[in-house]
Amino acid sequence: MRVLLVGGGGREHALALGLASDPAVSALIAAPGNPGIAEVAELREVTATDPAAVAALAVETAADLVVIGPEAPLVAGVADAVRAKGIAAFGPSGEAAQLEGSKTFAKDVMTAAGVPTARAYTCTDPESTGRALDEFGAPYVVKNDGLAAGKGVVVTDDRAAALAHAQECGRVVVEEFLDGPEVSLFVVTDGEAALPLLPAQDFKRIGDGDTGPNTGGMGAYAPLPWSPPGLVDEVMRDVVHPTLAEMRRRGTPFAGLLYVGLAITAAGPRVIEFNARFGDPETQVVLALLESPLGGLLHAAATGTLAAHPPLRWRDGAAVTVVVAAQGYPAAPRTGDVITGADRPGIIHAGTTRRASDGALLSAGGRVLCGTATGTDLAAARDAAYALVDGVELAGSQHRTDIAAAALNGRITIPG
Ligand code: AMP
Repeated sequence: MRVLLVGGGGREHALALGLASDPAVSALIAAPGNPGIAEVAELREVTATDPAAVAALAVETAADLVVIGPEAPLVAGVADAVRAKGIAAFGPSGEAAQLEGSKTFAKDVMTAAGVPTARAYTCTDPESTGRALDEFGAPYVVKNDGLAAGKGVVVTDDRAAALAHAQECGRVVVEEFLDGPEVSLFVVTDGEAALPLLPAQDFKRIGDGDTGPNTGGMGAYAPLPWSPPGLVDEVMRDVVHPTLAEMRRRGTPFAGLLYVGLAITAAGPRVIEFNARFGDPETQVVLALLESPLGGLLHAAATGTLAAHPPLRWRDGAAVTVVVAAQGYPAAPRTGDVITGADRPGIIHAGTTRRASDGALLSAGGRVLCGTATGTDLAAARDAAYALVDGVELAGSQHRTDIAAAALNGRITIPG
């Protein structure tokens, strides 16, 4: 099977490692890829959000399967354009990707499907925003309605800051605050059959102790030692299957990766958000533990044959990833700094590039790379991930020191 992987971040590097280690994958091409992905794939240039360009590249490279990593190409209809050429694509149609592309659309689907989630209002002016904020009270949750690369959400006790964010965004969803630890559950689906991956937890805030602004994600671990028994079955029954059924009923079946972001509240799991693709950096830890061949799994989802796929196999132990971010991230990341110590197994590239003159590795994004490691238990995986990160040198870089710490110390509790 020849696979074309679209994207060039940490998620795609993790996907590339999984695809490259699947014996059924005979060729792996990545576009645009990154210097880490270049170690395991042939790189091609493409504008990932240009459906016609990606479809043409899929034809040119004789791809049997196109795996689309990021949300923007999905929302732009890249999967549709690839399928129109008769090539299997892993990723939802542009219409189905609205589950991520519009928070209002996602809320509509959840309401119609009876999925447990936060109560919410869509607001476009300060008056209705103010009323919604006052109805729910602090902490206030204000979400940009459109794609915002994981940074469109403000959670704050400061009413003025909540209002200001709403005004900056234009159209927002204001919702009630969900109290409880968060879980990311990835579900591979062909629109009907659905296979959950291992639940993971990520760390959205920039600072230790969940302080500072939201980011694209600063680290992750899996599995979750504190997760309530039966959680995955409950979420599949109450969230995933009703959502997939509602999408089929609308004539826009969702096939690809359904990312369910949950808060485990006193009243049970509640959906915080849906994404239409693998989450970054949780993908790094989930795929590090997946033993079943990744190419075969994604191909089954892309071709409507997932019901016949064997049960997923997982490695024992745990995985941890720690993100190294550039100085100034998330507000104003500095790029162009030399990185050393990154050429070791377990270093996943997210925002890196090679200097044309001498091939030196340079930072090229806010989240630059991450150290991903497995271990016989969470403590061992955590130590190994931090050892990787400690070996990387990048001027002014920042990373959290508390990834997986609370889980390890038994300090994660479910309210109520
Ligand atoms: P989202 O982009 O919707 O995942 O939101 C980013 C982050 O904001 C989530 O991971 C949560 O930490 C936080 N968040 C979003 N919605 C809520 C909510 N209703 N209650 C509490 N925290 C939330």
